[in-house]
Amino acid sequence: MEVLYSSTRGDGAPVGASQAILKGLSEDGGLFVPDHIPALDKSLKELSEMDYKQVAYEVMKLFFTDFTGEELKTCIERAYDEKFDTELIAPGVEAMGAYYLELFHGPTIAFKDMALSILPHLMIASAKKNHIRQEIVILTATSGDTGKAALAGFADVEGTRIIVFYPKNGVSPIQEKQMVTQKGANTLVVGIHGNFDDAQTGVKKIFSDKKLAEEMEKKGFVFSSANSINIGRLVPQVCYYVYTYAKLLGEGRLKEGEKLNVAVPTGNFGNILAAYYAKKMGLPIGKLICASNENKVLYDFFRTGTYDRNRKFVLTSSPSMDILISSNLERLIYHIAGDDADTTKKLMAALGGQGKYEITAEMKAQLGDFYGNYADETETAAEIRRLYEGCGYVTDTHTAVASAVYQKYLKETGDKTGTVIASTASPFKFTRSVMNAIDQKYDSMGDLELVDELSALAGVKVPRAIEEIRTAPVVHDTQCDVDKMQDTVKEFLGI
Ligand SMILES: *Cc1c(COP(=O)(O)O)cnc(C)c1O
Repeated sequence: MEVLYSSTRGDGAPVGASQAILKGLSEDGGLFVPDHIPALDKSLKELSEMDYKQVAYEVMKLFFTDFTGEELKTCIERAYDEKFDTELIAPGVEAMGAYYLELFHGPTIAFKDMALSILPHLMIASAKKNHIRQEIVILTATSGDTGKAALAGFADVEGTRIIVFYPKNGVSPIQEKQMVTQKGANTLVVGIHGNFDDAQTGVKKIFSDKKLAEEMEKKGFVFSSANSINIGRLVPQVCYYVYTYAKLLGEGRLKEGEKLNVAVPTGNFGNILAAYYAKKMGLPIGKLICASNENKVLYDFFRTGTYDRNRKFVLTSSPSMDILISSNLERLIYHIAGDDADTTKKLMAALGGQGKYEITAEMKAQLGDFYGNYADETETAAEIRRLYEGCGYVTDTHTAVASAVYQKYLKETGDKTGTVIASTASPFKFTRSVMNAIDQKYDSMGDLELVDELSALAGVKVPRAIEEIRTAPVVHDTQCDVDKMQDTVKEFLGI
Protein backbone atom coordinates (compact mmCIF):
# COMPACT_ATOMS: atom_id res chain seq x y z
CA MET A 1 0.00 0.00 0.00
CA GLU A 2 1.30 3.45 -0.92
CA VAL A 3 2.51 5.66 1.90
CA LEU A 4 2.03 9.41 1.45
CA TYR A 5 3.56 12.15 3.56
CA SER A 6 1.86 15.30 4.80
CA SER A 7 2.81 18.16 7.08
CA THR A 8 2.27 17.90 10.84
CA ARG A 9 0.80 21.39 10.51
CA GLY A 10 -1.66 20.49 7.79
CA ASP A 11 -0.87 22.74 4.80
CA GLY A 12 -0.32 21.41 1.30
CA ALA A 13 -1.32 18.20 -0.46
CA PRO A 14 0.23 14.90 0.65
CA VAL A 15 3.37 13.97 -1.32
CA GLY A 16 5.29 10.80 -2.08
CA ALA A 17 8.39 9.83 -0.12
CA SER A 18 10.80 11.12 -2.76
CA GLN A 19 9.27 14.61 -2.64
CA ALA A 20 9.24 14.63 1.15
CA ILE A 21 12.93 13.67 1.11
CA LEU A 22 13.76 16.49 -1.32
CA LYS A 23 11.83 19.10 0.62
CA GLY A 24 13.04 18.06 4.07
CA LEU A 25 10.71 20.43 5.87
CA SER A 26 7.19 21.24 4.73
CA GLU A 27 6.53 24.79 3.50
CA ASP A 28 4.37 25.61 6.52
CA GLY A 29 7.25 24.77 8.85
CA GLY A 30 5.78 21.38 9.74
CA LEU A 31 7.48 17.99 9.49
CA PHE A 32 6.47 15.32 7.00
CA VAL A 33 4.66 12.39 8.60
CA PRO A 34 3.47 9.16 6.94
CA ASP A 35 -0.30 8.84 6.55
CA HIS A 36 0.00 5.41 8.18
CA ILE A 37 2.82 3.37 9.66
CA PRO A 38 3.19 0.23 7.55
CA ALA A 39 3.28 -3.15 9.28
CA LEU A 40 6.28 -5.42 8.79
CA ASP A 41 5.41 -7.87 6.02
CA LYS A 42 8.11 -10.44 6.83
CA SER A 43 8.15 -12.51 10.00
CA LEU A 44 10.84 -11.74 12.55
CA LYS A 45 12.12 -15.26 11.99
CA GLU A 46 12.61 -14.52 8.28
CA LEU A 47 14.27 -11.21 9.13
CA SER A 48 16.57 -12.95 11.60
CA GLU A 49 18.20 -14.77 8.69
CA MET A 50 19.01 -11.55 6.84
CA ASP A 51 22.02 -9.26 7.02
CA TYR A 52 21.80 -5.54 7.79
CA LYS A 53 21.33 -4.43 4.20
CA GLN A 54 18.57 -6.93 3.57
CA VAL A 55 16.68 -5.91 6.70
CA ALA A 56 17.16 -2.25 5.76
CA TYR A 57 15.57 -2.99 2.40
CA GLU A 58 12.60 -4.78 4.00
CA VAL A 59 11.91 -1.74 6.21
CA MET A 60 12.59 1.02 3.69
CA LYS A 61 10.51 -0.51 0.90
CA LEU A 62 7.45 -0.25 3.18
CA PHE A 63 7.93 3.48 3.82
CA PHE A 64 9.45 4.66 0.53
CA THR A 65 6.77 3.25 -1.71
CA ASP A 66 7.48 5.49 -4.71
CA PHE A 67 11.01 4.09 -5.11
CA THR A 68 11.59 0.97 -7.17
CA GLY A 69 13.19 -2.01 -5.45
CA GLU A 70 16.23 -1.51 -7.66
CA GLU A 71 16.61 2.15 -6.66
CA LEU A 72 16.41 1.36 -2.98
CA LYS A 73 18.84 -1.52 -3.21
CA THR A 74 21.37 0.69 -5.02
CA CYS A 75 21.07 3.35 -2.31
CA ILE A 76 21.52 0.74 0.42
CA GLU A 77 24.54 -0.83 -1.30
CA ARG A 78 26.25 2.55 -1.65
CA ALA A 79 25.54 3.54 1.93
CA TYR A 80 26.44 0.50 4.00
CA ASP A 81 29.76 -0.48 2.44
CA GLU A 82 33.43 -0.34 3.56
CA LYS A 83 32.81 3.09 5.06
CA PHE A 84 31.70 1.01 8.03
CA ASP A 85 34.42 -0.84 9.89
CA THR A 86 32.31 -3.98 10.34
CA GLU A 87 30.08 -5.93 7.98
CA LEU A 88 27.52 -6.19 10.74
CA ILE A 89 27.05 -2.39 10.37
CA ALA A 90 25.30 -2.22 13.76
CA PRO A 91 26.93 -4.77 16.10
CA GLY A 92 26.01 -5.22 19.75
CA VAL A 93 27.94 -5.83 22.95
CA GLU A 94 26.51 -7.25 26.15
CA ALA A 95 27.81 -5.48 29.24
CA MET A 96 26.60 -5.63 32.85
CA GLY A 97 23.22 -7.09 31.89
CA ALA A 98 22.28 -4.73 29.05
CA TYR A 99 22.83 -4.94 25.30
CA TYR A 100 24.71 -1.97 23.85
CA LEU A 101 23.74 -1.47 20.23
CA GLU A 102 26.81 0.18 18.73
CA LEU A 103 25.63 2.63 16.10
CA PHE A 104 29.05 4.23 15.70
CA HIS A 105 30.92 2.04 13.24
CA GLY A 106 30.45 4.43 10.29
CA PRO A 107 32.83 7.03 8.83
CA THR A 108 32.42 9.65 11.58
CA ILE A 109 32.07 7.22 14.50
CA ALA A 110 28.66 8.49 15.65
CA PHE A 111 25.15 7.19 15.03
CA LYS A 112 24.26 9.95 12.58
CA ASP A 113 26.20 7.93 10.01
CA MET A 114 23.49 5.28 10.06
CA ALA A 115 21.16 7.66 8.24
CA LEU A 116 23.50 10.20 6.69
CA SER A 117 25.43 7.66 4.70
CA ILE A 118 22.24 6.82 2.79
CA LEU A 119 20.49 10.20 2.65
CA PRO A 120 22.60 11.67 -0.21
CA HIS A 121 21.81 8.64 -2.34
CA LEU A 122 18.11 8.81 -1.52
CA MET A 123 18.18 12.50 -2.46
CA ILE A 124 19.95 12.05 -5.78
CA ALA A 125 17.54 9.23 -6.65
CA SER A 126 14.62 11.45 -5.58
CA ALA A 127 15.87 14.35 -7.70
CA LYS A 128 16.11 12.09 -10.75
CA LYS A 129 12.61 10.71 -10.19
CA ASN A 130 11.18 14.21 -9.90
CA HIS A 131 13.12 15.68 -12.85
CA ILE A 132 14.87 18.26 -10.66
CA ARG A 133 17.67 19.96 -12.56
CA GLN A 134 18.79 22.47 -9.95
CA GLU A 135 21.73 21.90 -7.71
CA ILE A 136 20.62 20.70 -4.28
CA VAL A 137 21.95 22.87 -1.46
CA ILE A 138 21.99 21.09 1.88
CA LEU A 139 21.70 23.45 4.81
CA THR A 140 22.32 21.99 8.25
CA ALA A 141 22.50 23.13 11.84
CA THR A 142 24.52 20.80 14.00
CA SER A 143 25.27 20.29 17.65
CA GLY A 144 28.38 18.44 16.56
CA ASP A 145 27.79 15.04 15.07
CA THR A 146 25.27 15.73 12.32
CA GLY A 147 27.59 18.24 10.72
CA LYS A 148 30.48 15.94 10.12
CA ALA A 149 28.29 13.01 9.17
CA ALA A 150 26.41 15.15 6.64
CA LEU A 151 29.66 16.58 5.28
CA ALA A 152 31.10 13.09 4.89
CA GLY A 153 27.94 11.93 3.16
CA PHE A 154 27.62 14.81 0.69
CA ALA A 155 31.25 15.81 0.02
CA ASP A 156 31.89 15.72 -3.72
CA VAL A 157 28.49 14.18 -4.47
CA GLU A 158 27.69 15.59 -7.88
CA GLY A 159 24.72 17.95 -8.04
CA THR A 160 24.89 18.90 -4.37
CA ARG A 161 26.44 21.51 -2.10
CA ILE A 162 26.48 21.41 1.65
CA ILE A 163 26.64 24.22 4.22
CA VAL A 164 26.97 23.36 7.92
CA PHE A 165 26.43 25.79 10.82
CA TYR A 166 27.68 24.81 14.27
CA PRO A 167 27.88 26.67 17.60
CA LYS A 168 31.46 27.92 17.70
CA ASN A 169 31.88 27.20 21.42
CA GLY A 170 29.38 24.38 21.76
CA VAL A 171 31.03 21.29 20.26
CA SER A 172 33.91 19.12 21.41
CA PRO A 173 37.44 19.88 20.08
CA ILE A 174 37.44 16.60 18.18
CA GLN A 175 34.00 17.31 16.69
CA GLU A 176 35.21 20.74 15.56
CA LYS A 177 38.44 19.38 14.12
CA GLN A 178 36.49 16.73 12.22
CA MET A 179 34.35 19.39 10.57
CA VAL A 180 36.92 22.07 9.79
CA THR A 181 39.19 19.54 8.08
CA GLN A 182 36.43 18.38 5.71
CA LYS A 183 37.55 18.15 2.10
CA GLY A 184 35.31 18.71 -0.91
CA ALA A 185 34.86 21.81 -3.08
CA ASN A 186 31.10 21.71 -2.50
CA THR A 187 31.40 22.05 1.29
CA LEU A 188 31.23 25.05 3.65
CA VAL A 189 31.58 24.88 7.44
CA VAL A 190 30.62 27.91 9.56
CA GLY A 191 31.02 28.47 13.31
CA ILE A 192 28.26 30.78 14.58
CA HIS A 193 28.41 33.01 17.65
CA GLY A 194 25.50 31.38 19.45
CA ASN A 195 24.25 28.00 20.66
CA PHE A 196 22.74 25.07 18.76
CA ASP A 197 19.18 26.35 19.07
CA ASP A 198 20.31 29.66 17.52
CA ALA A 199 21.85 27.74 14.64
CA GLN A 200 18.73 25.64 14.16
CA THR A 201 16.40 28.64 14.34
CA GLY A 202 18.60 30.50 11.84
CA VAL A 203 18.50 27.59 9.40
CA LYS A 204 14.72 27.27 9.73
CA LYS A 205 14.41 30.99 8.99
CA ILE A 206 16.50 30.67 5.81
CA PHE A 207 14.39 27.71 4.72
CA SER A 208 11.10 29.55 5.11
CA ASP A 209 12.30 32.74 3.36
CA LYS A 210 10.22 32.78 0.17
CA LYS A 211 12.14 35.66 -1.42
CA LEU A 212 15.41 33.86 -1.00
CA ALA A 213 13.91 30.68 -2.44
CA GLU A 214 12.93 32.59 -5.59
CA GLU A 215 16.40 34.08 -5.96
CA MET A 216 17.89 30.64 -5.52
CA GLU A 217 15.67 29.08 -8.13
CA LYS A 218 16.66 31.71 -10.68
CA LYS A 219 20.31 30.88 -10.08
CA GLY A 220 19.74 27.15 -10.34
CA PHE A 221 19.74 26.15 -6.67
CA VAL A 222 17.20 24.53 -4.41
CA PHE A 223 17.48 24.08 -0.64
CA SER A 224 17.09 20.82 1.16
CA SER A 225 17.72 19.66 4.69
CA ALA A 226 19.85 16.85 6.02
CA ASN A 227 18.73 17.49 9.59
CA SER A 228 17.05 14.75 11.52
CA ILE A 229 13.66 16.17 10.58
CA ASN A 230 14.11 14.72 7.07
CA ILE A 231 12.03 11.60 6.64
CA GLY A 232 14.99 10.21 4.67
CA ARG A 233 16.90 10.12 7.93
CA LEU A 234 14.15 8.91 10.20
CA VAL A 235 13.28 5.77 8.25
CA PRO A 236 16.86 4.42 7.93
CA GLN A 237 16.98 4.66 11.74
CA VAL A 238 13.98 2.38 12.10
CA CYS A 239 16.01 -0.34 10.39
CA TYR A 240 18.53 -0.96 13.15
CA TYR A 241 15.85 -1.59 15.75
CA VAL A 242 14.24 -4.19 13.52
CA TYR A 243 17.65 -5.67 12.67
CA THR A 244 18.67 -5.89 16.32
CA TYR A 245 15.47 -7.49 17.51
CA ALA A 246 15.63 -10.04 14.68
CA LYS A 247 19.28 -10.75 15.39
CA LEU A 248 18.69 -11.32 19.11
CA LEU A 249 15.81 -13.61 18.18
CA GLY A 250 18.03 -15.53 15.77
CA GLU A 251 20.69 -15.94 18.46
CA GLY A 252 18.10 -17.32 20.87
CA ARG A 253 18.51 -14.39 23.25
CA LEU A 254 14.87 -13.46 22.76
CA LYS A 255 11.85 -15.75 22.40
CA GLU A 256 9.25 -15.13 19.74
CA GLY A 257 7.02 -12.25 20.78
CA GLU A 258 9.12 -11.43 23.83
CA LYS A 259 9.30 -7.73 24.59
CA LEU A 260 12.50 -5.73 24.33
CA ASN A 261 12.95 -2.34 25.97
CA VAL A 262 14.94 0.38 24.27
CA ALA A 263 16.90 3.14 26.03
CA VAL A 264 17.96 6.07 23.88
CA PRO A 265 20.16 9.10 24.64
CA THR A 266 17.94 11.80 23.24
CA GLY A 267 18.43 15.26 21.80
CA ASN A 268 16.33 16.11 18.78
CA PHE A 269 14.09 13.08 19.42
CA GLY A 270 14.89 11.41 16.07
CA ASN A 271 16.47 8.20 17.28
CA ILE A 272 13.80 7.38 19.84
CA LEU A 273 11.03 8.33 17.43
CA ALA A 274 12.47 5.73 15.05
CA ALA A 275 12.11 3.14 17.83
CA TYR A 276 8.49 4.28 18.32
CA TYR A 277 7.86 3.81 14.59
CA ALA A 278 9.49 0.36 14.76
CA LYS A 279 7.09 -0.54 17.56
CA LYS A 280 4.16 0.72 15.48
CA MET A 281 5.31 -1.53 12.63
CA GLY A 282 4.73 -4.47 14.94
CA LEU A 283 8.19 -4.96 16.46
CA PRO A 284 7.71 -6.23 20.05
CA ILE A 285 9.27 -3.25 21.77
CA GLY A 286 8.25 -2.66 25.38
CA LYS A 287 9.23 0.59 27.02
CA LEU A 288 10.84 3.47 25.17
CA ILE A 289 13.24 4.89 27.71
CA CYS A 290 14.00 8.50 26.82
CA ALA A 291 17.24 9.68 28.41
CA SER A 292 18.22 13.34 28.72
CA ASN A 293 21.24 15.10 30.15
CA GLU A 294 20.90 18.22 32.32
CA ASN A 295 18.93 19.88 29.52
CA LYS A 296 16.01 17.79 30.75
CA VAL A 297 13.15 19.46 28.91
CA LEU A 298 11.90 16.06 27.68
CA TYR A 299 11.96 14.51 31.15
CA ASP A 300 9.82 17.37 32.40
CA PHE A 301 7.52 16.96 29.41
CA PHE A 302 6.89 13.26 30.01
CA ARG A 303 6.32 13.91 33.71
CA THR A 304 4.03 16.93 33.48
CA GLY A 305 2.63 17.10 29.96
CA THR A 306 4.09 20.58 29.60
CA TYR A 307 6.92 21.28 27.18
CA ASP A 308 8.75 24.39 28.34
CA ARG A 309 11.92 25.62 26.73
CA ASN A 310 12.16 28.68 28.99
CA ARG A 311 15.11 27.60 31.04
CA LYS A 312 18.84 27.90 31.22
CA PHE A 313 20.71 26.19 28.42
CA VAL A 314 23.42 23.98 29.93
CA LEU A 315 26.63 22.95 28.18
CA THR A 316 27.34 19.34 29.15
CA SER A 317 29.83 16.60 28.30
CA SER A 318 27.18 15.15 25.94
CA PRO A 319 26.89 18.14 23.57
CA SER A 320 24.83 16.34 20.93
CA MET A 321 22.02 16.26 23.50
CA ASP A 322 22.35 19.90 24.56
CA ILE A 323 19.05 20.85 22.98
CA LEU A 324 16.01 22.72 24.25
CA ILE A 325 13.81 22.33 21.18
CA SER A 326 13.54 18.68 20.19
CA SER A 327 12.28 19.11 16.63
CA ASN A 328 11.19 15.54 16.03
CA LEU A 329 8.91 15.60 19.06
CA GLU A 330 6.48 17.43 16.79
CA ARG A 331 5.85 14.15 15.00
CA LEU A 332 5.01 12.37 18.24
CA ILE A 333 2.71 15.25 19.23
CA TYR A 334 0.93 14.88 15.90
CA HIS A 335 0.45 11.14 16.38
CA ILE A 336 -0.74 11.30 20.00
CA ALA A 337 -3.20 14.02 18.98
CA GLY A 338 -4.73 11.38 16.69
CA ASP A 339 -2.85 12.53 13.56
CA ASP A 340 -4.38 15.96 14.09
CA ALA A 341 -2.60 18.82 12.30
CA ASP A 342 -4.75 21.60 13.78
CA THR A 343 -3.81 20.68 17.33
CA THR A 344 -0.14 20.29 16.39
CA LYS A 345 -0.11 23.66 14.65
CA LYS A 346 -1.58 25.39 17.70
CA LEU A 347 0.89 23.79 20.08
CA MET A 348 3.87 24.63 17.86
CA ALA A 349 2.64 28.22 17.56
CA ALA A 350 2.62 28.36 21.37
CA LEU A 351 6.15 26.95 21.43
CA GLY A 352 7.25 29.61 18.94
CA GLY A 353 5.46 32.37 20.90
CA GLN A 354 5.56 31.64 24.64
CA GLY A 355 8.24 28.99 24.37
CA LYS A 356 5.94 26.36 25.86
CA TYR A 357 2.79 24.33 25.40
CA GLU A 358 0.70 21.86 27.36
CA ILE A 359 -0.83 18.72 25.88
CA THR A 360 -4.31 17.48 26.86
CA ALA A 361 -4.87 14.66 29.36
CA GLU A 362 -6.08 12.55 26.44
CA MET A 363 -2.80 13.05 24.60
CA LYS A 364 -0.79 12.41 27.73
CA ALA A 365 -2.58 9.08 28.14
CA GLN A 366 -1.02 8.01 24.81
CA LEU A 367 2.47 8.31 26.25
CA GLY A 368 2.30 5.16 28.37
CA ASP A 369 5.06 3.45 26.38
CA PHE A 370 7.52 6.21 27.21
CA TYR A 371 9.60 6.57 30.33
CA GLY A 372 11.63 9.76 30.68
CA ASN A 373 14.47 10.55 33.04
CA TYR A 374 17.82 12.30 33.02
CA ALA A 375 21.37 11.94 34.27
CA ASP A 376 23.43 14.86 35.49
CA GLU A 377 27.16 15.26 34.84
CA THR A 378 28.22 13.41 38.00
CA GLU A 379 25.87 10.50 37.32
CA THR A 380 27.05 10.26 33.72
CA ALA A 381 30.71 10.11 34.71
CA ALA A 382 29.92 7.58 37.44
CA GLU A 383 28.17 5.37 34.88
CA ILE A 384 31.21 5.39 32.57
CA ARG A 385 33.32 4.35 35.54
CA ARG A 386 30.84 1.67 36.70
CA LEU A 387 30.84 -0.01 33.29
CA TYR A 388 34.60 0.20 32.92
CA GLU A 389 35.35 -1.09 36.39
CA GLY A 390 32.59 -3.70 36.20
CA CYS A 391 33.55 -5.32 32.91
CA GLY A 392 36.11 -3.21 31.02
CA TYR A 393 33.57 -1.81 28.57
CA VAL A 394 34.10 1.86 27.76
CA THR A 395 31.16 3.98 26.54
CA ASP A 396 30.99 7.56 25.38
CA THR A 397 29.22 10.25 27.41
CA HIS A 398 25.94 10.16 25.44
CA THR A 399 25.61 6.42 25.75
CA ALA A 400 26.44 6.73 29.45
CA VAL A 401 23.51 9.12 29.93
CA ALA A 402 21.17 6.46 28.53
CA SER A 403 22.85 3.75 30.55
CA ALA A 404 22.54 5.76 33.79
CA VAL A 405 18.89 6.50 33.08
CA TYR A 406 18.29 2.81 32.41
CA GLN A 407 19.74 2.07 35.87
CA LYS A 408 17.26 4.57 37.36
CA TYR A 409 14.44 2.89 35.46
CA LEU A 410 15.51 -0.52 36.79
CA LYS A 411 15.57 0.74 40.38
CA GLU A 412 12.20 2.43 40.06
CA THR A 413 10.32 -0.35 38.30
CA GLY A 414 12.19 -3.62 38.79
CA ASP A 415 11.27 -4.36 35.16
CA LYS A 416 13.43 -7.33 34.08
CA THR A 417 12.63 -7.04 30.38
CA GLY A 418 15.74 -7.31 28.19
CA THR A 419 16.98 -3.88 27.21
CA VAL A 420 18.89 -2.45 24.29
CA ILE A 421 20.81 0.73 24.95
CA ALA A 422 21.44 2.79 21.83
CA SER A 423 25.16 3.46 21.87
CA THR A 424 25.41 6.60 19.81
CA ALA A 425 29.07 7.56 19.69
CA SER A 426 32.46 5.98 19.96
CA PRO A 427 34.25 6.90 23.20
CA PHE A 428 37.09 8.15 20.96
CA LYS A 429 34.90 11.05 19.93
CA PHE A 430 34.72 12.35 23.50
CA THR A 431 38.02 11.05 24.75
CA ARG A 432 38.74 13.66 27.41
CA SER A 433 35.36 13.46 29.15
CA VAL A 434 35.47 9.68 29.02
CA MET A 435 39.00 9.37 30.39
CA ASN A 436 38.38 11.96 33.12
CA ALA A 437 35.34 9.99 34.19
CA ILE A 438 37.48 6.89 34.58
CA ASP A 439 40.31 8.62 36.43
CA GLN A 440 41.07 12.29 37.12
CA LYS A 441 44.77 11.61 36.58
CA TYR A 442 44.22 11.78 32.82
CA ASP A 443 43.29 15.45 33.03
CA SER A 444 46.89 16.55 32.62
CA MET A 445 47.51 14.62 29.38
CA GLY A 446 47.23 16.07 25.86
CA ASP A 447 44.31 15.10 23.60
CA LEU A 448 46.29 12.89 21.27
CA GLU A 449 48.09 11.15 24.07
CA LEU A 450 44.71 10.44 25.63
CA VAL A 451 43.55 8.74 22.46
CA ASP A 452 46.35 6.19 22.78
CA GLU A 453 45.63 5.73 26.49
CA LEU A 454 41.97 5.04 25.73
CA SER A 455 42.93 2.56 23.05
CA ALA A 456 45.11 0.63 25.50
CA LEU A 457 42.60 0.81 28.32
CA ALA A 458 39.58 -0.32 26.30
CA GLY A 459 41.53 -2.77 24.16
CA VAL A 460 40.09 -1.14 21.03
CA LYS A 461 42.04 0.05 18.00
CA VAL A 462 42.06 3.81 17.38
CA PRO A 463 39.30 4.35 14.77
CA ARG A 464 40.25 5.50 11.28
CA ALA A 465 38.23 8.72 11.71
CA ILE A 466 40.49 9.77 14.60
CA GLU A 467 43.73 8.72 12.92
CA GLU A 468 42.77 10.94 9.98
CA ILE A 469 42.21 14.16 11.89
CA ARG A 470 45.53 13.83 13.63
CA THR A 471 47.18 14.87 10.40
CA ALA A 472 44.49 16.59 8.30
CA PRO A 473 44.91 20.34 7.67
CA VAL A 474 42.21 22.86 8.68
CA VAL A 475 40.43 24.04 5.52
CA HIS A 476 37.44 25.91 6.99
CA ASP A 477 37.70 28.99 9.22
CA THR A 478 34.48 30.89 8.49
CA GLN A 479 32.63 32.37 11.48
CA CYS A 480 29.53 34.58 11.63
CA ASP A 481 26.98 36.18 13.93
CA VAL A 482 23.54 34.61 14.15
CA ASP A 483 21.94 37.41 12.11
CA LYS A 484 24.48 37.02 9.29
CA MET A 485 23.77 33.39 8.47
CA GLN A 486 21.76 34.20 5.37
CA ASP A 487 24.46 36.51 4.00
CA THR A 488 27.03 33.79 4.51
CA VAL A 489 24.92 31.34 2.49
CA LYS A 490 24.46 33.82 -0.35
CA GLU A 491 28.14 34.59 -0.50
CA PHE A 492 29.06 30.90 -0.77
CA LEU A 493 26.56 30.36 -3.58
CA GLY A 494 27.54 33.58 -5.35
CA ILE A 495 24.04 35.11 -5.34
C1 LIG B 1 22.55 13.24 17.65
C2 LIG B 1 23.04 12.46 18.78
C3 LIG B 1 22.19 12.10 19.84
C4 LIG B 1 20.74 12.52 19.89
O1 LIG B 1 19.95 11.88 18.92
P1 LIG B 1 18.54 12.48 18.49
O2 LIG B 1 18.08 11.63 17.38
O3 LIG B 1 18.78 13.90 18.09
O4 LIG B 1 17.67 12.40 19.70
C5 LIG B 1 22.71 11.33 20.86
N1 LIG B 1 24.01 10.97 20.87
C6 LIG B 1 24.85 11.32 19.89
C7 LIG B 1 26.28 10.91 19.98
C8 LIG B 1 24.40 12.06 18.81
O5 LIG B 1 25.25 12.39 17.83
